[in-house]
Amino acid sequence: MSFETLGLSPALLRALADSQYTVPTPIQVQAIPLALAGHDLLGGAQTGTGKTAAFGLPLLQRLSKQTPPSGPRKPRALILTPTRELALQVGDSLRAYGKHLRLNVTTIFGGAGMQPQVDNLRRGVDVLVATPGRLIDHLERGSAKLDAIEILVLDEADRMLDMGFLPAIKRILARLPRERQTLLFSATFEPRIKALALEFMRDPQQVQVTASNAVADTVVHRVHPVDATRKRDLLVDILSQRHTEQVIVFGKTKHGCNRLAEQLEKAGLKALAIHGNKSQAQRQKALLQFKTGKARILVATDVAARGLDIPNLPLVINHDLPMVAEDYVHRIGRTGRAGAQGEALSLVSPEEGALLRQIQRLLKTDIAMETLSGYEPSRPLRLDAPMPAQSRGQKGGGRNNGGGARAAAKPAHRAHGKPASRAAHSHAGPKQHRGGGKPAGARRDTRA
Ligand code: AMP
Repeated sequence: MSFETLGLSPALLRALADSQYTVPTPIQVQAIPLALAGHDLLGGAQTGTGKTAAFGLPLLQRLSKQTPPSGPRKPRALILTPTRELALQVGDSLRAYGKHLRLNVTTIFGGAGMQPQVDNLRRGVDVLVATPGRLIDHLERGSAKLDAIEILVLDEADRMLDMGFLPAIKRILARLPRERQTLLFSATFEPRIKALALEFMRDPQQVQVTASNAVADTVVHRVHPVDATRKRDLLVDILSQRHTEQVIVFGKTKHGCNRLAEQLEKAGLKALAIHGNKSQAQRQKALLQFKTGKARILVATDVAARGLDIPNLPLVINHDLPMVAEDYVHRIGRTGRAGAQGEALSLVSPEEGALLRQIQRLLKTDIAMETLSGYEPSRPLRLDAPMPAQSRGQKGGGRNNGGGARAAAKPAHRAHGKPASRAAHSHAGPKQHRGGGKPAGARRDTRA
């Protein structure tokens, strides 16, 4: 399969050749012809699968076919993303793909000055890439107009819902012409996303590159049981032993990530923290240092790390397990990309047993447990432990228990290494809490 056979225009083919893309990825093969034909699309694809081009190329081609009205142009395509970094990344990719077309791609997001964005919008825009909150600000000031939108893309829709963006998305949808094409991409398709999608899409075609909630089968997963108070020492030990590998360490809170990065520095391990309390400039700088290999260790919260394009990361460490099992899949999506080997280590305290249980249920497999000498926990790690207080009554396992996500999950994943410990097997049975789902934004306390 080649890009030519997908029906892309010579200008786009030239840009793809410039970017050294020779073969379309599976999501591109499936999505591009359907999107070019004008269908609405529900795309199931994780970060790293090439989904930006899967929606970006047909979008640019369709826009370039029509002559825009004269005078300052109103945006004809809108791409909504959950985070600033992803907005920047998508904007950059679209500019690269559209470099031989005369289309203006503008990116707007929170945490940056309003006025330069207002000026850009006034100069005329064809493709607007935006985070929802900042777009609402512009709509209220009248600096952005959405009445000429022909194509809407919701990128990482599951995450936008998790971040409490549903009210903002509904407000934005109310400003869009009903007659339009809508493309929605999500790594996971739980029932509430489908329900939302069906509210504002027309007879969408569904494309899927891996089963929902699947992780690459080139990733080795391992759990190290350890007391919460010893996690930091264990992390330092692991990072000191594996001193050549680039790694993202995931922590739960902004404050926790800051402290962790400081403590790693004290132990002689150069680490950068990236989370929502950092300024946009700091986040960009940290990311650039990491991407260019100048920093080896990035300590991140979930939201800050979402959607970042970091190729060939060999190792991801969960200093804390995520409160939501699907986030484990997203974190692990940073490693084992494009067939490369990857490794995911989780430092799990006895209090996190229930979170581990949820992850194993989502993955439909046990994860190998390996207690490291000198770090034996003071009590066993039991999977029938109650949910930690922070997630009880919020999540209650509702999403993972909901049936849809689990039913769609595929055992695509190898459980490597030693078989899961007896504790993992013998306590895997009890029922999960059923919290009845989570209100949008319920995880704000852990937002990056
Ligand atoms: P995405 O999932 O859109 O974030 O893309 C992940 C990475 O794959 C990015 O670095 C893209 O530039 C790259 N990429 C996307 N499509 C292709 C392709 N067909 N060939 C080579 N690289 C690609």
